[in-house]
Amino acid sequence: MSNVIFLSGLREIGGTVVAVETDTTICYFDFGFAYADRIDNKVNLRKGMEAFDYVKLGVLNAIDGIYEPEIAYKLGLKAYGETDKKIFIIISHMHIDHMGGLGALHQDVPVYMSADSAKLYHELGVMGELEIREHKNVLPIDYDASVTFGDIKVTCVQVDHDVIGACGFLIEADGKMICYTGDYRYHGYHPEISAAFAEKCKGADLMISEGVTISSVDVDMLSLEGPVRDRTELTLLEDMKNHAKEEEQLIVINNYNRNVERIHRFIEVLARAGRTMVLEPEQADYVAAFYPEDEFAVYLPEGGELKAPLLKGRPVAIRKMLLDNPEKYVLQQDYKHIYELFELESVISLYLHMDGAPLGDYDPSYAKFYSLLENLGINFERCGLGGHAEPYYLRHTVDVIEPKILVPLHSFRPEQLVSDHAGKIILPEIGQTIKLS
Ligand SMILES: [Zn+2]
Ligand SMILES: [Zn+2]
Repeated sequence: MSNVIFLSGLREIGGTVVAVETDTTICYFDFGFAYADRIDNKVNLRKGMEAFDYVKLGVLNAIDGIYEPEIAYKLGLKAYGETDKKIFIIISHMHIDHMGGLGALHQDVPVYMSADSAKLYHELGVMGELEIREHKNVLPIDYDASVTFGDIKVTCVQVDHDVIGACGFLIEADGKMICYTGDYRYHGYHPEISAAFAEKCKGADLMISEGVTISSVDVDMLSLEGPVRDRTELTLLEDMKNHAKEEEQLIVINNYNRNVERIHRFIEVLARAGRTMVLEPEQADYVAAFYPEDEFAVYLPEGGELKAPLLKGRPVAIRKMLLDNPEKYVLQQDYKHIYELFELESVISLYLHMDGAPLGDYDPSYAKFYSLLENLGINFERCGLGGHAEPYYLRHTVDVIEPKILVPLHSFRPEQLVSDHAGKIILPEIGQTIKLS
């Protein structure tokens, strides 16, 4: 018999943690931060106590057998290695709400993820963009490959999402098949990958599905007859091409730097339009890790040395180059560097907000961000796409898989995800167990 225990992240977007447990082994997925308003960036986590502080905040879970002894004991838990059952963790993709807690773990906890996610994870560490520290025991799995840990078998099944390396999982425990979608979409460059995921998971005993896009709108799922959204990564690419031709001066894009393929595609299209893509060092490193042949310049406003190993020898673009020939460049910029616009405002003809921070008006930075752009008189456009399957595809995926049990989560309104092709639908409470036997 296997138990599936729903620990957190059920009626919110973020911090989904589910355990699959057999007589000998426990598999946890994912291990990100709960979307907690409880984190206040004005308060410092205590050095060496970050894991403890996060658990006390309710951002991470109090779980036996995953933390360092000094943290675990203070929380009244067993430390890593002290539990009767073997424990491992699998991670679907490199978004903070799915992986942000990895730095809090005991460094020996086995953490499996796709090989592409593992590559990106390491580079995030190189560029200082990980929370707390880089986890040591990360074990890559190729797409469609399986690992068996204890008596649980996990297959890494790729999905298309707005981050490189995203996958879902097929988990086999005591003869039962559990599928977890992670986050996925059909409006990316590879809808066929998300379609193939559904095919590979057909007939699962239990399907655990994300439901982000049904969080804030009323949806009558069963009446949806087809997809409705018309904007995709390909139309965004086309828009980018047109902007590159039509705008007379500098274009700035604010994207999410883990969506590496978008930048890879932009580089090619922009080069043909006579513009060089100028990337901040973090973004440049992630692109170089996956697409070493791509030609771009790295933005060091005042010049200087590129320190990251993957960036050695790459061309540098300094601020003066952008000021002198703004029509020849597109600058990629993270929100945290937005004050650089004070130097560039005179030559910017368009600022594109495309899925970079701040993501939405729930973020206190959002209003500040837009008032700054307005105060500077910068011409801007919101053109983000998001990374989540529209409601029709959420249902369509369930229709194809035809699970015996469906559990929708990772949504403010998971109850809206229904399908005639699911045997039954369960909306678990926090801590609830579903027994598969
Ligand atoms: Zn998510
Ligand atoms: Zn995601």
